Amino acid sequence: MTKKFRVFASCDIGEAIELLRKRGYEVEVYPSPEAPPKSFIVEKVAAGIDGLITTLRDSIDAEVFEAGKGTLKVVAQIAVGFDNINRADANRYKVPFTHTADVLTEATAEFAFFMMGALARRMWTAEHLTRENQWGFWHPYLPFLGDEVTGKTVAVIGTGRIGLAFIKKCVGFDMNVLCYDPAYQNHAFVKTIQEILELRHLRGLAKEKAWIKYVSFEEALAGADYVSVHVPLLREGESPTPTYHLFNEKTLQKMKKTAFLVNTSRGPVVDEAALARALRENWIAGAALDVYETEPLPEDSPLRDPAIADRCRLMPHFASQARITRLSTDPDKGMAGRCVQGLIDVLEGNYGGDVTKMPYVVNKEAFTRNGNEQ
Ligand code: NAD
Repeated sequence: MTKKFRVFASCDIGEAIELLRKRGYEVEVYPSPEAPPKSFIVEKVAAGIDGLITTLRDSIDAEVFEAGKGTLKVVAQIAVGFDNINRADANRYKVPFTHTADVLTEATAEFAFFMMGALARRMWTAEHLTRENQWGFWHPYLPFLGDEVTGKTVAVIGTGRIGLAFIKKCVGFDMNVLCYDPAYQNHAFVKTIQEILELRHLRGLAKEKAWIKYVSFEEALAGADYVSVHVPLLREGESPTPTYHLFNEKTLQKMKKTAFLVNTSRGPVVDEAALARALRENWIAGAALDVYETEPLPEDSPLRDPAIADRCRLMPHFASQARITRLSTDPDKGMAGRCVQGLIDVLEGNYGGDVTKMPYVVNKEAFTRNGNEQ
């Protein structure tokens, strides 16, 4: 019989909650679909819970950790990104936090790929034309044309889990791939993809021999027909190569006028005012966004400008929003399953109670012998 742990979940994560209850946990779930106010989370933590389940909407910092001093043992985030959790504060209070990497990789990558295709082939505008009964005739080029994806060149910014999965999708479309990542370059993966691209050509599946290579950021931007962003949000001081406003007036101007930008990473990676200007003034051909500087997207966002609606696709942070990916209770398939498993590992002392061996814990550095903070 497991000790009765007390857990507060800032959001319902489906059946996985029952999994905890079946183990004897006392779990309270915030009843509203909106995020709770921070003061509510602080209050729950101060009441002595052992574990806190969070989403990317919750700001978790020293105020929360201070409220849980001596009682809060783990924060389990249902997301791979954890820019809402202050890592230095978590380390200072020695609270491990977990995330749900890997299980959302393919779903996010395929959504980015679909966004790229929908944007380039102007599917939204085309469907509106049909629905609004504006489809008057078949014509070779009127009322507009889209751009092909097959055989084009795509820049993948960030070649971590999702960036590499995105590249795998691009192979089926015989795309050339420009990779950029200042911190992690997977040359073995690139070699394998190059071999597959060559085999597709050799066996007559692809007309042209496509290629893949690592290049500088500038080369990636200048050479790409499509740019897909797969980086974590890293603010100034959090990394030698921060990603905050990586796409700004200066970098957007380095892209081709005919190129498209796709962002499924985090909103603040793109300076939205600069992007709106780039679209209005046709510095680039279009953009598809899943994430925003402020979420939900404010009513007065410049991205809602009707003048750019035909080339600016706006999704509601939906890239990992797929049935199995989100809710499966299997930690190898679903974010919910992986989230509660991360929580269980810490609370029940799995892996001999050694936090550094727990696969879903992010801030392992706080639990090494020297307890070095990052
Ligand atoms: P990851 O850590 O495996 O990969 C991120 C890569 O970005 C790493 O290889 C890293 O070296 C690289 N990187 C860091 N700084 C960079 C820079 N300045 N320029 C270029 N590359 C840089 O993470 P992942 O699992 O691939 O996820 C990536 C991000 O995608 C997450 O952090 C999250 O914010 C976002 N995400 C969004 C959704 C969604 O629903 N839209 C879903 C999942 C993940």
